[in-house]
Amino acid sequence: MHELIHLTPLFHNKIWGGRRLESEYGYQIPAGPVGECWAISAHPAGDCPVENEAFAGKTLSELWDERRDLFGDLPGKEFPLLIKILDADGDLSIQVHPDDAYAAEHENGSLGKRECWYVLDCEPGATIIVGQRAHDRAELAQMIEEGRWGELLNEVPIHKGDFFQIDPGTVHAIKAGTLILETQQSSDVTYRVYDYDRLGDDGKPRPLHIEQSLDVVDYGAVAPADGTVTAPEVDGITLLERNDNYTVERVRVSGEKTLPQPWPFMCLSVIDGAGTVNGEAVRKGSHLLAPCGCGDLALSGNMTLITSHV
Ligand code: ZN
Repeated sequence: MHELIHLTPLFHNKIWGGRRLESEYGYQIPAGPVGECWAISAHPAGDCPVENEAFAGKTLSELWDERRDLFGDLPGKEFPLLIKILDADGDLSIQVHPDDAYAAEHENGSLGKRECWYVLDCEPGATIIVGQRAHDRAELAQMIEEGRWGELLNEVPIHKGDFFQIDPGTVHAIKAGTLILETQQSSDVTYRVYDYDRLGDDGKPRPLHIEQSLDVVDYGAVAPADGTVTAPEVDGITLLERNDNYTVERVRVSGEKTLPQPWPFMCLSVIDGAGTVNGEAVRKGSHLLAPCGCGDLALSGNMTLITSHV
């Protein structure tokens, strides 16, 4: 039976980052503003080392390449998901991601980026941007040109425990005072629509990608009014999202719980509390990769997890 896979998280400094990944999650992070913890990732921009002795010295992408049996012999050149925690002390840029077809053609065969956000915590009055109001390419180009951001962008209030699905083509931005758990396709392709005229680390504005943004925006998408989770909780489990790329659930454990793992793999992130998984101690900030054929997972303790699988 395959053992649970432990990965070393990787951290990325960002101009909008903070220090909460250290103060609230206990991670050892680099100096300066840290925006992202890549907790389960095989992406070339952050390929997590595997901690299990049996796979010493390997990264997740190497495990994917060499031990596909651990992932149910799934096809594909890359491990498909990327799990992050984001600490936004400032506003992230207004951005949009392409779908698989556009990214394959314009971004060296990269995957597109579909992502979703679970709000781990936020300051009172915090908001997020999901969706935009232009009806077509010409109108969007004009609104960007004229800087009519308040009119263009759909900004909604957020609360701890909210959930947002961000399909490719959705203009979006995480704003200041927000901690997010992000489940996404393993892709780093971002088109920046607006960056509040800020300067990057090098003293220059970060590049914008207006033409690509105009190409990929889904002008027919309906923007959400809020991120309230309305799906029922059944036996501690709430389905947050199911699409062609991932299924994401919230799992609450109070005492003992058996969690079936019939998928090619399952990502698990403890977002609150502490307990054990198959007897191994975990706490808020722990992430695990349950491989194919690891059997049912035995959870115990008082904790909340976000799980995902393809
Ligand atoms: Zn994004």
